[in-house]
Amino acid sequence: MDKNTPIELLTKFMPALKQAGGVLLDQLYPPSCVHCGAGNLGGHGASNLLCAQCWGNLRPITRPLCPRLGLPFDFDLGTEGLSAQAIADPPPYQRARAACVHNGVARTLISKLKFSDRPELGKFCATLMVSAGHELFEDKENGESPVLVPVPLHRRRQWQRRYNQSTQLAQALGALRGLDVEPFIVQRVKSTRPQIGLSAEQRKRNLAGAFVAQPSLVERLRGRRVVIVDDVITTGSTINALTKVLQGAGVERIDVISFSRVVIGIDDSL
Ligand SMILES: [Zn+2]
Repeated sequence: MDKNTPIELLTKFMPALKQAGGVLLDQLYPPSCVHCGAGNLGGHGASNLLCAQCWGNLRPITRPLCPRLGLPFDFDLGTEGLSAQAIADPPPYQRARAACVHNGVARTLISKLKFSDRPELGKFCATLMVSAGHELFEDKENGESPVLVPVPLHRRRQWQRRYNQSTQLAQALGALRGLDVEPFIVQRVKSTRPQIGLSAEQRKRNLAGAFVAQPSLVERLRGRRVVIVDDVITTGSTINALTKVLQGAGVERIDVISFSRVVIGIDDSL
């Protein structure tokens, strides 16, 4: 006769217990769409987060796109064709990619990610980021995997929110792709005011000295490629400032992945 220890028994029945718990929770709090509140979810690849309509309203950013900034193009300009923005003001990083346009549904997902502690949201967003940033996560030439560095929050803000949404995204991405995550190498030492409504020069000044690389930890990035992880790219000033600090610390190859990005000229009302 099999004799199971209590731990073995628990391990054996854990999946069934979890499932029963899930069913019970679903009865107590039926899942509803995080964007519109509709109650009829499931069966469309968006798990228990979005209804079919809101899922359909997410605007994934796919090819053709600018190889540097990741901005979507209306026409394919070939693999080397850059956007006018990337030519006029080349970014300090190599490539940026975002999973979707920062429209209404994406905005809701990010605000829930920031202000309600629901790790399944991070996992959901990270799943979309994995496919949008696939070129950044694989380096076919030398088989080397990058390190993920989330955009840090100022200590005070992190204390208020209890967690950093970019770190949650980076950890979910790291788990999906088997990549290292380094959330403590760069610190945000200046609490910056929101960038909205500031000119390019004001944004630069606002972010000057905002990030500092920790000298005792930066050695871990030596010789490695870094992918910065952000929730949303708006003007690009934050990732530019962080890229420059990492470059100053000796990191040579830097890419960026975010969940969403503002795309001027695309209807973002959905
Ligand atoms: Zn909905």
